[in-house]
Amino acid sequence: MAGHIVIGGGQAGAALVAKLRQVDPDTPITLIGEESVPPYQRPPLSKKYLMGEMELERLFLRPERFYAEQNITLRLNARVSSIDRTACQVVLEGGEHLSYRALALTTGSTPRTLPAAVGGDLGGVYSVRSLAHIDAMAQGFTPGARCLIVGGGYIGLEAAAVAASRGLNVVLVEAMDRILQRVAASETASYFRDLHRAHGVDIREGTGLKRLTGDTKVTGAVLSDGTSIEVDFAIIGIGIMPDVTLAEQAGLEIDNGIRVDAGSRTSDPAIFAAGDCASFPYRGNRIRLESVPNAIEQAEVAALNMAGQSAEYGAKPWFWSDQYDVKLQIAGLNTGYDHIVVRPGAREQTQSVWYFKGAQLLAVDAMNDPRAYMVGKRMIEGNISPTAEAVGNPDTDLKSLMG
Ligand code: FAD
Repeated sequence: MAGHIVIGGGQAGAALVAKLRQVDPDTPITLIGEESVPPYQRPPLSKKYLMGEMELERLFLRPERFYAEQNITLRLNARVSSIDRTACQVVLEGGEHLSYRALALTTGSTPRTLPAAVGGDLGGVYSVRSLAHIDAMAQGFTPGARCLIVGGGYIGLEAAAVAASRGLNVVLVEAMDRILQRVAASETASYFRDLHRAHGVDIREGTGLKRLTGDTKVTGAVLSDGTSIEVDFAIIGIGIMPDVTLAEQAGLEIDNGIRVDAGSRTSDPAIFAAGDCASFPYRGNRIRLESVPNAIEQAEVAALNMAGQSAEYGAKPWFWSDQYDVKLQIAGLNTGYDHIVVRPGAREQTQSVWYFKGAQLLAVDAMNDPRAYMVGKRMIEGNISPTAEAVGNPDTDLKSLMG
């Protein structure tokens, strides 16, 4: 009997098959992943795992035996090379064909890399996406090593925090005017710039990378201001692209990711998509999120619909980042904000940044301030907007603003 097939053994794929088995006890389920290990969590890769504070097994979302116990066939080291929608089959590299009744794509995203012409193919140049990437770069994390980080987004900053904490000399270059330019207000960026500089990271904003130098292995870098620096290795954190290769080849609609409806259905009703690779309707717009909560919740909606139920995804975006002893929690999406309010917290290094569009609260960045995060998240989800004056007054009890 043709069963359910899920391509991509990551966060969304693992959540999808677990939910699907709960609601559909009988149909065969196959999860196909190209990596050599069972599905794992990626957030610790640039945090505790890179720091050496987390064991490999704890990265795994479920022990490998879970899949067998749940009668889910887990195919590791298996890459799908194409989808034949007419025959309802997926084709593995090597030529094997597998038939599906319903198919899901949870192929995630691919890190942007530097072209070979600027040294992107030299040894010692690492992306930050997979366990294999982290295991490769971890060898270079020895005290005193010189590390160049290209890109001042959350991934680059998290890698910088680990490197600095482990005693490396870190230079971080950001080609835009400031770090976190695409994702956060300048007040949040300033908070993290100060934090990193206090830990000795040499942050250079408005400074791009011209090229990496070295014969076979990177030994240096020339920056856009003409400066040359010596480096032992380089970490590239310049963003990711949704992995739409299979979907595109199969003729599915693409729109900043695989286009799905609120039920995680692609333009082919037998094919679903979820996680980093999928763009979906959200409050009158179409968005794509790169976060764990999105991967899980959207995948579970796909699972319910693959089992014949009728579920819709109502995204409630939230995200987090850990750098040194600071936990940043973000509620909502700040896209389109026109002003912000900074609220000092009760303790040192505690602060929250509230994003408004007109009178409407859109998002909150809470640095070591779980209360501001919790209240902000509940307000955004409940469509409640406090006044900017009330939020900005440190004497206001946030809970009193909940209405
Ligand atoms: P992935 O987990 O990337 O899984 C996709 C899988 O599909 C991969 O294993 C890939 O190899 C496989 N695949 C692709 N094509 C094929 C094919 N043709 N055949 C077989 N297999 C295929 N999110 C947060 O919310 N908070 C954080 O703090 C945070 N930190 C992060 C830190 C790092 C270093 C990284 C890399 C990500 C972080 N994220 C964080 C983002 C989060 O991990 C992702 O949003 C999440 O993993 C997306 O899940 P996914 O299943 O869509 O993709």
